[in-house]
Amino acid sequence: MNPNIDDYLDGNAAAGELSNIFAMDVTAAEGQCAHCGAIKRFAEAHVYMQGPGLVARCSVCQHALLRFVSARQRVFLDLRGLTCLILDTSQLVESGR
Ligand SMILES: [Zn+2]
Repeated sequence: MNPNIDDYLDGNAAAGELSNIFAMDVTAAEGQCAHCGAIKRFAEAHVYMQGPGLVARCSVCQHALLRFVSARQRVFLDLRGLTCLILDTSQLVESGR
């Protein structure tokens, strides 16, 4: 699949799906692109939702950071495009977890 390069939403569009599997808000996290090394907030990623799931791409180089497909009772999460994901745990303290 080769989506139209301009037909994307920002990373916040993935918040609903990702909140089903992550206890923390991933869109507020920073991630490092495995392809170009850019460290950006996930909310800045370009999210394509035209396929059966969603694909988040690096806003700098367009490399796929995350692929998410939900089918029946399973979620397939491909994070190969992220070297690391940096989560701010202060939000856990604030919510009392
Ligand atoms: Zn990149």
